Amino acid sequence: MSRKGILFVISAPSGGGKTSLCEALCAAMDDVVRSVSCTTRAPRAQEQDGLDYYFISAQQFAERVAAGDFLEWACVHRHRYGTLRQPIDEATAAGKDVLLVIDVQGAEQLRRAGVDAVHVFVLPPSWQALEERLAGRESGTKTARARLAVARQESAQYTAYDYVLINDCFAEALAALKAIVLAERHRVRRADPAPILQLLNGGT
Ligand code: 5GP
Repeated sequence: MSRKGILFVISAPSGGGKTSLCEALCAAMDDVVRSVSCTTRAPRAQEQDGLDYYFISAQQFAERVAAGDFLEWACVHRHRYGTLRQPIDEATAAGKDVLLVIDVQGAEQLRRAGVDAVHVFVLPPSWQALEERLAGRESGTKTARARLAVARQESAQYTAYDYVLINDCFAEALAALKAIVLAERHRVRRADPAPILQLLNGGT
Protein backbone atom coordinates (compact mmCIF):
# COMPACT_ATOMS: atom_id res chain seq x y z
CA MET A 1 0.00 0.00 0.00
CA SER A 2 1.56 3.30 -1.04
CA ARG A 3 1.51 6.39 1.16
CA LYS A 4 -1.16 9.04 0.65
CA GLY A 5 0.12 11.95 -1.42
CA ILE A 6 0.53 15.44 0.02
CA LEU A 7 -1.10 18.60 -1.35
CA PHE A 8 1.30 21.48 -1.94
CA VAL A 9 -0.34 24.85 -2.51
CA ILE A 10 2.00 27.09 -4.50
CA SER A 11 1.00 30.75 -4.75
CA ALA A 12 3.00 33.39 -6.54
CA PRO A 13 2.23 36.56 -8.44
CA SER A 14 1.26 36.00 -12.05
CA GLY A 15 4.44 36.13 -14.14
CA GLY A 16 6.67 35.25 -11.18
CA GLY A 17 8.02 32.09 -12.81
CA LYS A 18 6.06 29.59 -10.72
CA THR A 19 5.00 27.54 -13.75
CA SER A 20 8.60 26.81 -14.81
CA LEU A 21 9.53 26.07 -11.21
CA CYS A 22 6.68 23.61 -10.76
CA GLU A 23 7.40 21.91 -14.08
CA ALA A 24 11.05 21.49 -13.07
CA LEU A 25 10.01 20.14 -9.68
CA CYS A 26 7.73 17.52 -11.29
CA ALA A 27 10.55 16.51 -13.65
CA ALA A 28 13.12 16.33 -10.85
CA MET A 29 11.15 14.35 -8.26
CA ASP A 30 9.28 11.07 -8.47
CA ASP A 31 5.61 11.08 -7.59
CA VAL A 32 5.06 14.84 -7.86
CA VAL A 33 2.37 16.00 -10.29
CA ARG A 34 0.78 19.36 -11.05
CA SER A 35 -2.96 19.79 -10.86
CA VAL A 36 -4.58 21.09 -14.06
CA SER A 37 -7.12 23.78 -13.20
CA CYS A 38 -10.22 24.84 -15.09
CA THR A 39 -10.36 28.43 -16.27
CA THR A 40 -12.73 30.67 -18.19
CA ARG A 41 -9.88 32.77 -19.59
CA ALA A 42 -8.78 32.30 -23.21
CA PRO A 43 -5.64 30.26 -23.87
CA ARG A 44 -2.43 32.19 -24.51
CA ALA A 45 -0.16 31.28 -27.41
CA GLN A 46 1.59 27.95 -26.66
CA GLU A 47 -0.97 26.96 -24.03
CA GLN A 48 -2.70 23.61 -24.55
CA ASP A 49 -6.11 22.53 -23.35
CA GLY A 50 -5.83 19.73 -20.80
CA LEU A 51 -2.16 20.39 -20.22
CA ASP A 52 -1.91 23.98 -19.00
CA TYR A 53 -5.57 24.39 -18.10
CA TYR A 54 -8.95 23.04 -19.04
CA PHE A 55 -10.30 26.03 -20.93
CA ILE A 56 -14.06 26.05 -20.38
CA SER A 57 -16.92 28.51 -20.87
CA ALA A 58 -18.42 30.60 -18.09
CA GLN A 59 -21.55 28.44 -18.28
CA GLN A 60 -19.61 25.19 -17.99
CA PHE A 61 -17.72 26.67 -15.04
CA ALA A 62 -20.97 27.66 -13.30
CA GLU A 63 -22.36 24.15 -13.84
CA ARG A 64 -19.29 22.58 -12.28
CA VAL A 65 -19.53 24.98 -9.30
CA ALA A 66 -23.18 23.97 -8.84
CA ALA A 67 -22.24 20.28 -9.08
CA GLY A 68 -19.65 20.74 -6.30
CA ASP A 69 -16.83 19.60 -8.59
CA PHE A 70 -14.31 22.16 -7.31
CA LEU A 71 -12.13 21.77 -4.23
CA GLU A 72 -11.75 25.56 -4.44
CA TRP A 73 -12.34 28.23 -7.02
CA ALA A 74 -11.84 31.97 -7.33
CA CYS A 75 -12.25 34.91 -9.62
CA VAL A 76 -8.80 36.22 -10.62
CA HIS A 77 -8.30 39.13 -13.04
CA ARG A 78 -12.00 38.91 -14.07
CA HIS A 79 -11.77 35.23 -14.99
CA ARG A 80 -12.67 32.16 -12.99
CA TYR A 81 -10.19 29.48 -12.00
CA GLY A 82 -10.92 26.28 -10.12
CA THR A 83 -9.27 23.08 -8.89
CA LEU A 84 -11.19 19.91 -9.70
CA ARG A 85 -11.70 17.70 -6.66
CA GLN A 86 -11.74 14.27 -8.31
CA PRO A 87 -8.29 14.21 -9.99
CA ILE A 88 -6.73 15.45 -6.75
CA ASP A 89 -8.37 12.69 -4.72
CA GLU A 90 -7.30 10.07 -7.25
CA ALA A 91 -3.71 11.29 -7.42
CA THR A 92 -3.21 11.50 -3.65
CA ALA A 93 -4.85 8.08 -3.17
CA ALA A 94 -2.29 6.72 -5.65
CA GLY A 95 0.55 8.19 -3.55
CA LYS A 96 1.27 11.20 -5.74
CA ASP A 97 2.09 14.56 -4.21
CA VAL A 98 0.06 17.23 -6.01
CA LEU A 99 1.06 20.84 -6.69
CA LEU A 100 -1.88 23.23 -6.69
CA VAL A 101 -0.71 26.42 -8.37
CA ILE A 102 -3.46 28.70 -7.15
CA ASP A 103 -3.96 32.28 -6.01
CA VAL A 104 -4.18 33.59 -2.45
CA GLN A 105 -8.01 33.42 -2.39
CA GLY A 106 -7.98 29.72 -3.29
CA ALA A 107 -5.28 29.02 -0.71
CA GLU A 108 -7.36 30.79 1.95
CA GLN A 109 -10.44 28.75 1.02
CA LEU A 110 -8.48 25.54 1.56
CA ARG A 111 -7.21 26.75 4.95
CA ARG A 112 -10.73 27.65 6.04
CA ALA A 113 -12.07 24.29 4.87
CA GLY A 114 -9.38 22.57 6.94
CA VAL A 115 -7.85 20.85 3.90
CA ASP A 116 -4.54 19.25 4.87
CA ALA A 117 -1.98 20.99 2.64
CA VAL A 118 1.46 22.58 2.76
CA HIS A 119 1.34 26.22 1.66
CA VAL A 120 4.31 27.77 -0.15
CA PHE A 121 4.59 31.37 -1.38
CA VAL A 122 7.06 32.19 -4.16
CA LEU A 123 8.07 35.87 -4.34
CA PRO A 124 9.50 37.50 -7.48
CA PRO A 125 13.10 38.80 -7.31
CA SER A 126 11.88 42.40 -7.80
CA TRP A 127 8.83 44.30 -8.98
CA GLN A 128 10.76 45.56 -11.95
CA ALA A 129 11.58 42.02 -13.08
CA LEU A 130 7.94 41.06 -12.70
CA GLU A 131 6.76 44.13 -14.63
CA GLU A 132 9.08 43.27 -17.50
CA ARG A 133 7.84 39.69 -17.66
CA LEU A 134 4.22 40.78 -17.53
CA ALA A 135 4.66 43.47 -20.17
CA GLY A 136 6.20 40.87 -22.48
CA ARG A 137 3.33 38.48 -21.94
CA GLU A 138 0.26 40.72 -21.96
CA SER A 139 -0.84 42.45 -25.12
CA GLY A 140 -1.97 45.63 -23.34
CA THR A 141 0.29 47.26 -20.78
CA LYS A 142 -2.86 48.24 -18.88
CA THR A 143 -3.50 44.56 -18.10
CA ALA A 144 0.14 44.12 -17.11
CA ARG A 145 -0.11 47.12 -14.77
CA ALA A 146 -3.32 45.81 -13.20
CA ARG A 147 -1.67 42.42 -12.65
CA LEU A 148 1.34 44.08 -11.06
CA ALA A 149 -0.86 45.98 -8.60
CA VAL A 150 -2.64 42.74 -7.65
CA ALA A 151 0.73 40.99 -7.33
CA ARG A 152 1.91 43.51 -4.75
CA GLN A 153 -1.27 43.13 -2.71
CA GLU A 154 -1.15 39.34 -2.87
CA SER A 155 2.50 39.11 -1.90
CA ALA A 156 1.77 40.91 1.37
CA GLN A 157 -0.21 37.80 2.36
CA TYR A 158 2.83 35.51 2.38
CA THR A 159 2.72 35.35 6.21
CA ALA A 160 -0.33 33.07 6.03
CA TYR A 161 1.85 30.43 4.30
CA ASP A 162 4.10 27.71 5.78
CA TYR A 163 7.10 28.47 3.57
CA VAL A 164 8.31 31.46 1.55
CA LEU A 165 11.07 31.72 -1.03
CA ILE A 166 12.35 34.35 -3.42
CA ASN A 167 12.69 33.23 -7.01
CA ASP A 168 15.85 35.22 -7.80
CA CYS A 169 17.93 32.21 -8.79
CA PHE A 170 16.02 29.41 -10.49
CA ALA A 171 18.34 26.61 -9.33
CA GLU A 172 18.21 27.78 -5.71
CA ALA A 173 14.45 28.22 -5.73
CA LEU A 174 14.06 24.73 -7.20
CA ALA A 175 16.41 23.28 -4.58
CA ALA A 176 14.36 24.94 -1.85
CA LEU A 177 11.12 23.52 -3.24
CA LYS A 178 12.64 20.04 -3.46
CA ALA A 179 13.82 20.33 0.15
CA ILE A 180 10.33 21.36 1.27
CA VAL A 181 8.70 18.37 -0.47
CA LEU A 182 11.28 15.98 0.94
CA ALA A 183 10.99 17.33 4.48
CA GLU A 184 7.20 17.15 4.40
CA ARG A 185 7.36 13.53 3.24
CA HIS A 186 9.36 12.71 6.37
CA ARG A 187 6.97 14.25 8.88
CA VAL A 188 6.23 11.73 11.63
CA ARG A 189 2.48 12.16 11.30
CA ARG A 190 2.66 11.22 7.62
CA ALA A 191 4.92 8.21 8.06
CA ASP A 192 3.68 4.71 7.28
CA PRO A 193 4.10 3.00 10.70
CA ALA A 194 4.39 -0.56 9.30
CA PRO A 195 8.06 -0.54 8.18
CA ILE A 196 9.03 1.52 11.23
CA LEU A 197 7.39 -0.94 13.64
CA GLN A 198 8.97 -3.82 11.77
CA LEU A 199 12.36 -2.18 12.23
CA LEU A 200 11.77 -1.36 15.89
CA ASN A 201 10.46 -4.82 16.76
CA GLY A 202 12.94 -6.75 14.66
CA GLY A 203 16.08 -8.50 15.84
CA THR A 204 19.59 -7.23 15.40
P1 5GP B 1 -2.75 32.89 -15.22
O1 5GP B 1 -3.95 33.45 -15.92
O2 5GP B 1 -1.58 33.83 -15.26
O3 5GP B 1 -2.40 31.51 -15.68
O4 5GP B 1 -3.15 32.72 -13.69
C1 5GP B 1 -3.66 33.81 -12.98
C2 5GP B 1 -3.77 33.45 -11.52
O5 5GP B 1 -4.74 32.43 -11.33
C3 5GP B 1 -2.48 32.92 -10.90
O6 5GP B 1 -2.26 33.57 -9.65
C4 5GP B 1 -2.77 31.47 -10.68
O7 5GP B 1 -2.05 30.95 -9.59
C5 5GP B 1 -4.25 31.51 -10.40
N1 5GP B 1 -4.88 30.21 -10.59
C6 5GP B 1 -4.64 29.29 -11.55
N2 5GP B 1 -5.40 28.21 -11.37
C7 5GP B 1 -6.14 28.42 -10.26
C8 5GP B 1 -7.10 27.65 -9.54
O8 5GP B 1 -7.47 26.53 -9.87
N3 5GP B 1 -7.65 28.24 -8.44
C9 5GP B 1 -7.29 29.49 -8.01
N4 5GP B 1 -7.85 29.95 -6.90
N5 5GP B 1 -6.37 30.23 -8.66
C10 5GP B 1 -5.80 29.71 -9.76
